[in-house]
Amino acid sequence: MNRTLYGNLIFELSKAGRRGYSLPENQFGDYALPAELCRQADAQLPECDELTVVRHYTNLSADNFGVDNGFYPLGSCTMKYNPKINEEMAALPQFQNLHPEQPAGTTKGAELLIRYLEEALCQLTGLAHFTFKPYAGAHGELTGLMTIDNYHRSRGDMARKKVVVPDSAHGTNPASAAVCGLEVVEVKSLADGTVDVDDLRRVVEAHGPEISAMMMTNPNTLGLFEHHIPEIAEMIHACGGLMYYDGANLNPMLGVCRPGDMGFDVMHINLHKTFSTPHGGGGPGSGPVGVREGLQEFLPVVSPYNGNFAVMMRAYAYILSLGKEHVRLVGPLATLNANYIKESLKDVYLLPIDGLCCHEFVFDGLKDKSTGVTTMDVAKRLLDYGYHAPTIYFPLLFHESLMIEPTENESKETLDAFIAVMRRIAEEANSDPDTVKSAPHDTPIGRVDDVLAAKHPVLTYRQLSQSE
Ligand SMILES: *Cc1c(COP(=O)(O)O)cnc(C)c1O
Repeated sequence: MNRTLYGNLIFELSKAGRRGYSLPENQFGDYALPAELCRQADAQLPECDELTVVRHYTNLSADNFGVDNGFYPLGSCTMKYNPKINEEMAALPQFQNLHPEQPAGTTKGAELLIRYLEEALCQLTGLAHFTFKPYAGAHGELTGLMTIDNYHRSRGDMARKKVVVPDSAHGTNPASAAVCGLEVVEVKSLADGTVDVDDLRRVVEAHGPEISAMMMTNPNTLGLFEHHIPEIAEMIHACGGLMYYDGANLNPMLGVCRPGDMGFDVMHINLHKTFSTPHGGGGPGSGPVGVREGLQEFLPVVSPYNGNFAVMMRAYAYILSLGKEHVRLVGPLATLNANYIKESLKDVYLLPIDGLCCHEFVFDGLKDKSTGVTTMDVAKRLLDYGYHAPTIYFPLLFHESLMIEPTENESKETLDAFIAVMRRIAEEANSDPDTVKSAPHDTPIGRVDDVLAAKHPVLTYRQLSQSE
């Protein structure tokens, strides 16, 4: 794009008196607005011709990175596959134009869709009931913990105010527990990245009668399958607590195994991750909460109406388009793709925990630490090569975390091209470290000062007056 011609802001393109539109002839006469509602001076709006406006905004949109123009190897908070058919279904006018206050008799189709989706999720998870009210994964966690809290209190068991959370957990887990008024007790991970069962035993011995629940993610945030779930569930149940499953990223499990069969009592699913819906920067989301039989009466009402319906439509379309026979390929393919990248790069990137991963894995930066090239530098350099950066500096277990998830639908050619670029950056770190450290070079905006940008964001544009 020609920045000198088109500029960065529409105001910079303004020429006094230019017009890019023509309004239809006024057929209604003039009506004076009350003076106190009128501006004292005319609003300073940009004045541009039509083509300048169209090109300006089209060029700006091309600066965006989206699911349709490149590989996005984000771990953890990943969008998986977002088939176009889902968008078509979610845009059906009969559904899109529903209003939450519509008379009950006119929304039967939508209610049926929710019931079918609930049945599908019950089959996929092994739980008995779902509520679709929560608007995000974190909202689902809060709903689930409130359900568990209601359950304990219904039994007069008022002392259960502690939630056991592994140190590898997603940050929303301890945050949700805190918002629910519960205290977090951390349980350590072993060197292999899975929960330290001996440490958990100590926690249970010390806090047993006060334990409300244990929150677990499986595969955990390192992409590792927790092999000791039955033993862990038994320990927590024996002391009177319930098992909570963080199913934000359920794709590696789909059709292969079910949280309900592993001993979990309550869970949430991020429909916007596992069952498609492009999202980011706060929405749109849906975090339905599932419970085993007997717990449904304790589900709280966390929002009016029925949740984020368009996200539910996409999830249902996705499940139906996969069908029973293909849904069970999702987990194995996601696992294969992640392991393929991991094995192809582990000679140049540091793999702190070796062995099979599930849908994602974590490098601890480059293997050769002598170059001074950090995970941030690698992530920025990837932008020059046309890739979205992976998740970086999360999880917090390592200093230089670089978390990669390819998802199940990427072709081998896409994975190979990404691997080649990652290897090239590792080479550059040795041969030309300054280029990597000062990346990105080919993006509209270079490297920003993250701290300054977060603490002093400049979100307004100072308009130049005519004399300037
Ligand atoms: C994304 C994620 C969450 C939180 O989901 P939001 O919809 O962003 O609130 C919770 N746990 C895990 C493991 C996640 O990946």
